[in-house]
Amino acid sequence: MPRISGWGNYPSIDTNLELFDTIEQAKSIVLEAPEIVYQGNLRSYGDSALNERALNTRNFSYVFDFDKKSGILHATSGLLIGDILSFVVEYGWFLAVVPGTKLVSIGGAIAADVHGKNHHIDGGFSNFVVSFNLMLPNGEIINWSKHDNEDLFYATCGGMGLTGLILDVVIQLVPIDSAYLQRKTIVTKGLEETFQVMEDLRGTRFLVSWIDTSAEPKKIGRAKITSAEFINDSNYNVPRNRAFSIPSYLPGFCMASQTIRAMNACYFALPIAREKVIDFDRFFFPLDAIGNWNKVYGRKGFIQYQFVVPKKHSEIAIKRILEKLRELKLYSFLSVLKNTGKCNKGWLSFPMEGMSLALDFQYSDDLLPKLELLDEIVIGYGGRLYLAKDCRMSQSTFKAGYRHYEKFKNFRIDRGMKARIESKQSIRLGL
Ligand SMILES: Cc1cc2nc3c(=O)[nH]c(=O)nc-3n(C[C@H](O)[C@H](O)[C@H](O)COP(=O)(O)OP(=O)(O)OC[C@H]3O[C@@H](n4cnc5c(N)ncnc54)[C@H](O)[C@@H]3O)c2cc1C
Repeated sequence: MPRISGWGNYPSIDTNLELFDTIEQAKSIVLEAPEIVYQGNLRSYGDSALNERALNTRNFSYVFDFDKKSGILHATSGLLIGDILSFVVEYGWFLAVVPGTKLVSIGGAIAADVHGKNHHIDGGFSNFVVSFNLMLPNGEIINWSKHDNEDLFYATCGGMGLTGLILDVVIQLVPIDSAYLQRKTIVTKGLEETFQVMEDLRGTRFLVSWIDTSAEPKKIGRAKITSAEFINDSNYNVPRNRAFSIPSYLPGFCMASQTIRAMNACYFALPIAREKVIDFDRFFFPLDAIGNWNKVYGRKGFIQYQFVVPKKHSEIAIKRILEKLRELKLYSFLSVLKNTGKCNKGWLSFPMEGMSLALDFQYSDDLLPKLELLDEIVIGYGGRLYLAKDCRMSQSTFKAGYRHYEKFKNFRIDRGMKARIESKQSIRLGL
């Protein structure tokens, strides 16, 4: 039995792993399994795609139809975002919402209702889903399409795979005039300026900032803010991939707090072009250029802590989190701050209008109680944690952040989904 983990390499469990190529094969596995979890490409960080028995869509990766005129794509759930971009970009189309890696399956993108650097403008991935087919635990396949049974849509988009196996999806792509973006970078001196610039740039389609979590108190919240738009020039060619891979786990001490502080200082001091034309791969998926970068955190793995807080409290909440990190001597290198727009429609979708911050911490025995202290701040300001990154939040933290949880749970109970589809996360959170 393979030992399987999400992208954070924590936790990992022995798994009876099933793969399928056809709907018939999927159906017989779904019908026979007393309890199962669905898996895409395991790019969720924690335990949302883990259980002792798993059905993985990796081999279920086909394109049924792509209309080059309307940008409508029909494909199976195992197809990766990168696979889609590899053929649609040359026809002038792009996915409206992409996460920070293109190694995510369409099924995983819907199940987590992923957001990109443009959530403040375009919302989540599910906004661009036209229809999907879902296999229920009794083998029945139901089709959802826009204006149909809204509850099914609200429960499935962001529902972390707990309503059924997403089989195939029709998605609306968006037109682009080039595979390149004009990127602008601004360096700020502290949190107030960071928030001001992020607010001033809210009209720019793609906006993200890297925040220095090791900055000394008077520079707390200093950041490098990047904004970008696709450029209007078809003369640029479709870019080629550049990639190398981390061959094996690095020793845990490589990402010790002193190293991270030094890396943060270097990254902040690194000169960066204020304006640059950059290809979509480098802009949207810089981490994909380093295969297995998750191994730099060592065999024990790491936890990504991502939260969102409502706009009216976001500056004070993030200040308090950054201060708490200093106090706890917790340092993160990949610290990503994003503007988030209105709440997605999914009952368990993560974004809400405000600010989201994602932080990476190497796993250690004393990390979990420290994260609970961060939870208190997030919940205290009306925020919540992202299920796709989570492996440890308590039921009370979850319930405080997700007000539709009861509706979601009842939906599962009424349709025979509960107990038949479970992840380690759904069991822990009582979903
Ligand atoms: C480097 C990196 C950057 C990231 N950046 C972002 C980001 O910017 N924004 C963001 O929102 N997320 C981001 N993520 C998280 C990632 O987009 C989500 O976790 C996504 O769900 C992973 O998809 P997957 O195919 O790997 O699915 P998995 O990780 O295998 O599964 C994730 C969830 O989807 C369910 N699922 C998967 N396939 C199906 C299916 N066919 N039917 C039903 N349920 C299914 C699983 O049960 C599980 O609950 C990032 C992850 C990484 C590693």
